Amino acid sequence: MILLDGKKVSANVKAEVAKEVKELNEKGASVCLAVVIVGEDPASKIYVRNKKRACEECGIKSLEYALPENTSQEELLSLINKLNSDKEVNGILVQMPLPKHLSEKAVIDAISPLKDVDAFTDANVGKIMIGSYNFLPCTPAGVMELLKSENIDIEGKNCVVIGRSNIVGKPMSMLLLHKNATVTICHSRTRDIASICRNADLIVAAVGRKHFLTADMVKEGAIIIDVGINRDENGKVCGDVDFENVKEKASYITPVPGGVGPMTISVLMKNTLKAAALQRDTEI
Ligand code: NAP
Repeated sequence: MILLDGKKVSANVKAEVAKEVKELNEKGASVCLAVVIVGEDPASKIYVRNKKRACEECGIKSLEYALPENTSQEELLSLINKLNSDKEVNGILVQMPLPKHLSEKAVIDAISPLKDVDAFTDANVGKIMIGSYNFLPCTPAGVMELLKSENIDIEGKNCVVIGRSNIVGKPMSMLLLHKNATVTICHSRTRDIASICRNADLIVAAVGRKHFLTADMVKEGAIIIDVGINRDENGKVCGDVDFENVKEKASYITPVPGGVGPMTISVLMKNTLKAAALQRDTEI
């Protein structure tokens, strides 16, 4: 079994980004990500802190807008519009989930597709479908980087994605398909997931349930990617995969933490750099 080390691969990706940012700085240009967080969700605060730390590592300037829980839709949209037209801001990230009274769809729709570093806007989602992207979807692209780091070729392989969310499952399936995998998407209404998984050469678990994928669902030698971030009964972070037992059968497996999570953030850094390039080429 080979561990797919997200911390190591992510450090390499960030080092490449840092090198390019330094070159831009030397030419007098800078790269800037605006991060918007509304409310006090503890997990969101940790994600925002990690993203800001990654920006520092890459030499990317980060601007944090921490808005109170009772922020109105109009106030949030007005901030997004201001950031859209601010030439110093290259990328805009609104940390999800938003408080219930705010429309996530309306907020995403308001972000300029050229600054949409999460690749959540309709325009960028459409590009992912076609396979001609400005921005890669962060988590699925992070998974692809991990596979590339070990030269894992997925052409013709049976790949099963468990989960069909707009941010993970669906774009993950598209990226695998673009690499000529045969992709099956499973979800809460799928019948007999275990037998579908047992036929898979590669499984991506993006369910959000601790120990969802157990060893009896995995064929010998399968590649296992665990996107899940859950907490066990002791409050410890764990994924969707029963790691201790599944690792005995897997050829490659990602740990949680230290697998897909760090990759998501390094792709965000890549996207912010890309956004800066796009804006240099385009009149906003
Ligand atoms: P989500 O929107 O809640 O989607 C979960 C998916 O799992 C849904 O498609 C759901 O099916 C499916 N599902 C739920 N219960 C199931 C069951 N019993 N059998 C089969 N399928 C089932 O979650 P998400 O945003 O995609 O995130 C998934 C996990 O990844 C979460 O733990 C999240 O924290 C984590 N995550 C990690 C990263 C990272 O950087 N590592 C990034 C994003 C998310 P239906 O569609 O039928 O409801």
